[in-house]
Amino acid sequence: MEWTKKYNSFNSWKGLAYYQNYREILDWMNGSKYLPPPVGCSFDPISECNISCYFCIGQEYLRNHRNEKAMRKLPTEYLYTLVDFLAEWGVKSICIAGGGEPSLHEGIWELPSYAVGKGLDVSFMTNATNINPRLADSLMDCRWVAMSVDSGDRGTYLKIKGKDLFNTVIKNIENIIKLRELTHSDVDLCFKFLLLPENQYSIYDTCKLAKSLGVQDFHVRPVDFEYKYIKGSRKLDFDIPSILEQFERCHKEETENFHAYTVTHKFDKEFHVMHNFSNCMATPIDIPILTDGNAYLCIDHKMNPEYRLGSCYPDPKTILEWWGSDKHRAMIKTIAVKNCSRCTRSSYNEQIENVILKDDMCLNFP
Ligand code: SF4
Repeated sequence: MEWTKKYNSFNSWKGLAYYQNYREILDWMNGSKYLPPPVGCSFDPISECNISCYFCIGQEYLRNHRNEKAMRKLPTEYLYTLVDFLAEWGVKSICIAGGGEPSLHEGIWELPSYAVGKGLDVSFMTNATNINPRLADSLMDCRWVAMSVDSGDRGTYLKIKGKDLFNTVIKNIENIIKLRELTHSDVDLCFKFLLLPENQYSIYDTCKLAKSLGVQDFHVRPVDFEYKYIKGSRKLDFDIPSILEQFERCHKEETENFHAYTVTHKFDKEFHVMHNFSNCMATPIDIPILTDGNAYLCIDHKMNPEYRLGSCYPDPKTILEWWGSDKHRAMIKTIAVKNCSRCTRSSYNEQIENVILKDDMCLNFP
């Protein structure tokens, strides 16, 4: 069991709500001219980080290639222009993420509130080490905020993240929770826990910590050591029975205001990645824009030149010149799924294949 609350953000069946997008993507793949705008835009404002997680999926471009000329920080003015464009284009949400720690970009602190004012839903992903009052105020306007803590004690935190900032993080989370209560904000605060060999026996204790802090969600999912951009990947040394037993105990901690999500549906029983689909078709559901001013085909292949879709900088309207182009379509058709590790959009790819193409759910029969 991954959750007790059926209708939740981590339930990939929400992809079926994108049915119309799926249909239009398929028509476009078959030669029609129109590709709808993406539902969401994930963008990385800065390629810098203040901690050093050994499992970081952005390490390839955060720590290496630092002498190359590619831009590492999107200018503040550009961030606002980009938000204006995305709202006008019909994009529904932005996820301010990294590729780095977004709070290190001073131009981002008020951006969530600005984007909400433009009609966008906003989410923010952070390591919660650097939450100042201006950013905290703006986070109150977000739909959700994910805080990657990945540990429930100072020793484990230091071991896996390379900096002794656990106490700072917990203090910051406490402050955000207080502000949420004070402002009657509806933001969902999520304590994220990436399951690693080093923290596998502290899942339940961390869940209890998250609950005691007062966040709404505790989210745990296995690391993907098969991810090709992680250097020197480690052995996936998991005690699965212990992990599953702790998952069950986490669910027993759930209340009306606190939910545990033990998300494993993109992994097999041993927590290796799996692909239950043959073709990659779901990428136009969102658009990842990175600090070099380019958009990439897929959120799982950030900064890989083979997946570079086109420029969005300095004028975001440039996107309209290549979004839905023959080149865009051709790039999707060349994707070999076997070259991908964990696929963030795996369930959406599966749904397009089984629900739309094969009609396995007999969609015309309500
Ligand atoms: S990980 Fe691979 S299969 Fe999945 S969306 Fe990205 S390119 Fe497509």
